[in-house]
Order: sequence, then C-alpha cells, then structure tokens
Amino acid sequence: LKQVAGEHAKVHGIMGEGVDPHLFKPTRDHIKDLMEADIIVYSGLNLEGRMADTFGKIGRSGKPVFAVTEGIDKSYQRQPPEMEGHVDPHVWMDVAAWSACVEFAAKALSQFDPPHAEDYRKNAEAYRAQLKQLDDYVRKAMLSIPEEQRVLVTAHDAFGYYSRAYKIPVLSAQGVSTESEAGVHDVNQLVDALVRRKVPAVFFESSVSPKNIQAVIEGAARKGHNVLIGGELFSDAMGQGGTYEGTYIGMLDHNATTIARALGGDVPARGMQGKL
Ligand code: ZN
Repeated sequence: LKQVAGEHAKVHGIMGEGVDPHLFKPTRDHIKDLMEADIIVYSGLNLEGRMADTFGKIGRSGKPVFAVTEGIDKSYQRQPPEMEGHVDPHVWMDVAAWSACVEFAAKALSQFDPPHAEDYRKNAEAYRAQLKQLDDYVRKAMLSIPEEQRVLVTAHDAFGYYSRAYKIPVLSAQGVSTESEAGVHDVNQLVDALVRRKVPAVFFESSVSPKNIQAVIEGAARKGHNVLIGGELFSDAMGQGGTYEGTYIGMLDHNATTIARALGGDVPARGMQGKL
C-alpha cells in the first residue's frame, strides 16, 4: 500500500512482524487507530477472521473500508474441500495475483482521493513492474529444484496458491487456518509422505508455532529418515519493519531463495537482488 500511496498517505499497519492474522483480535488501541484513519485497507477472504465484525461496523459508519482481494477474479480463488465452502485467503503468495490486488488498491485510493489519481496509477504501474520480475524469479527458483525433491512441507496450509502458480506440491501439518489443530493422524500421514518421497528439508513459519513441524522431523527420524530444517518462511506475516524481509518483495524473495536452496535448487545465495 505504501508503494501505491507514495507521499499522499501515511500508512499505519495494525499487525506487525510475526503476528498470526487468523487469530488476531484487535485491542481498544487498534480500534482507536482504525476509527482515526481516513481509509482502511485489509486483505480479506476471511484471513483476518476475528476482525470481520470490526471492519463491518466501521464500514457501516460510512468510512471507506475495502479488501484488496476484491480485485481478484472469483474463478481464480481456491476453495479446498476441507474448507467447506470458504475461500483460501493466502492470495499474496502468488505474485501475479497480488499484483492484481495492487491495481485494485490504486483504483480504490483514486476514488477516495481523485486529485491524486494519476500518481496512484503511476505508482502502481511502477510497482507492478517490480512484481513481474519477482514473479519470474520465484518461478525460475522453483523450477531449478530437481523434480523428485520438489515438495514443500510447512506448518500450515498457506502455500496453496504458491503451489499452483509455481508448480511445487505442498504438504502441511495444519489446515488453511491456524485455528485448526493438527491431529496425530495428519502428522503421521505427513511423516509417511516425507519418508516415502525422501524429502530433504521442511520449513518453519515465522507466525506459526514450530511444534507440529518439530513432531514431523522427530517422526521421520524414528523411521530412519533425517530431515533438515530448511529455514523459516514468511507466510502470514512479513519480516521485521525496516528490513528487506519486512517488505513484500523481500519476503517472497526470502521464501523462494530459502526453499530452493534447501531442496537442491540453483539460486543466488543472497537472492534475486543480492539483498538477503
Ligand atoms: Zn494463514
């Protein structure tokens, strides 16, 4: 959003580094910040499950409140059967889809602030050119992984769009929301799949407890297969503010580079722009 708004807005994020948006509940201070904002932008598709009431209430008061994922075509949305009619919210993992959300945000800002519409359009266009490069890099990074090792094992199912866009199968211990508990059954199934496919590495997520992934590593070890920890991925939260990983591009670059390196792919050690 900062990229699109440029100098015309002060952008204040509510959820910081390492925060799990599925479980996030706003405090009184957050509500106050929201009430004072001129315009509120959120991700949507029920990602911020416990914020829905708050956004609804504020929206009915007349303040502009919108979800950037409204910019995405219905036919694109994933509806995994285990979600019983709900849509997978983790759209930002597919860079091309997120780029559509950027365009939508620029249009929404323009409607709210018509005098600066041309700036918003230009900012969005420049940013989307960078996203195109990122999209190409992630695709190349995943393709560089030898096919039999190309499988991504993570704590919760945040990588469904990623899997579809970048052609890497995904297995995870928890469902699409971290609200569900991983059962012993899920963990055992995951261990079996890991051992059978001789997956070399699994990944933690910065906003999700490492407990289930730890159980998977231990389970595989008991079956004689040593799995390495491939590193920590940013799934639902970005890295620390003010760092490269604290930006959208840095977060996706970090993920692609970390995954490719751990699974035997061929990518530069410091990522797409040498900034990692
Ligand atoms: Zn998630």
